[in-house]
Amino acid sequence: MSRVQSAGAATPIDPSVHQPEESAPPAAQSRRFEPADPDRFDLEDGQPKGAPSGRSGTTNVETGHLTFHGGKVLGSPDVVPVYVGAYWQTLQGKRDRARNDAAMAALVKDPGQTGIWREYRGGPGTTSASKFLASAERDFSKDDVEALVKAQVRSGAFDASDPERIFMLVLPPGATLADGAASSTAGLGGFHGNITAKDGHPVYYAVVVYSQRTGSGVNGIDFTGTPIDNITITESHEITEAVTDPDVGLAIHTGNPQLLGWYDDTTPIRRRDGSAVLDEVGRPIRGKGEIGDIPVLNAELEGDSALGRLPRW
Ligand SMILES: [Zn+2]
Repeated sequence: MSRVQSAGAATPIDPSVHQPEESAPPAAQSRRFEPADPDRFDLEDGQPKGAPSGRSGTTNVETGHLTFHGGKVLGSPDVVPVYVGAYWQTLQGKRDRARNDAAMAALVKDPGQTGIWREYRGGPGTTSASKFLASAERDFSKDDVEALVKAQVRSGAFDASDPERIFMLVLPPGATLADGAASSTAGLGGFHGNITAKDGHPVYYAVVVYSQRTGSGVNGIDFTGTPIDNITITESHEITEAVTDPDVGLAIHTGNPQLLGWYDDTTPIRRRDGSAVLDEVGRPIRGKGEIGDIPVLNAELEGDSALGRLPRW
């Protein structure tokens, strides 16, 4: 997940970088980007706000259009799985961990996956030995996740000397994740971003929840009915976005769109019948976000009920 949109569009994640629409932006500021919550469209009964009720169109929704904004792309990513919480030391946790380690090692070499990365000047990657982090935390905010990563980098427990290393955090069963108003109890599967090392260089991370359906509901996104496979699917989404748009967090933080890599900030978001999805003040929303967000959003616009509410990841 991670979408930013041009000033004046949709809902800001961080009000501090919001460009008030009243002030006509001068040329220098007109490039300023206002981050928007990835997929925060108001839904009524699972449909984007304003959807014609009980009617579906006959054409496919428009695909996304990624353009290169001038930022970084990872040519040789190195993925370090990081398992957070005591669960990962249990017998089942160790089995899950072995399975996910193998899936990550295969993913970064998989010709199907890395062939997509190559299309965007990214490269195949490597994995490094996975890590375990004790944590009793049950509800993780973005700040919690970033504080955790930052502490590990500063203590040296995370080796951040490889500038293309991605620390891939996997939360334990039952732990929730929030990014602003988006929550894993309402469709958030994970996100990717960066912290800044002492020397100023970005250290990349991604985080995914232990996506699982239980008697009390779904935490994360239940694609398959099998949590560890749900996790692997979400990781492939986040890693592909980290490869093709690693500095989206910096772009959001600074408001500088030239830090973005491959990103769709132009495609109008329309339903199958061609009608525009509007933001809460009635303006058409543009931009389908990062590479992984496009198919997810389109599936939702096509009415894929398996995804339920529009996922926020
Ligand atoms: Zn995404």
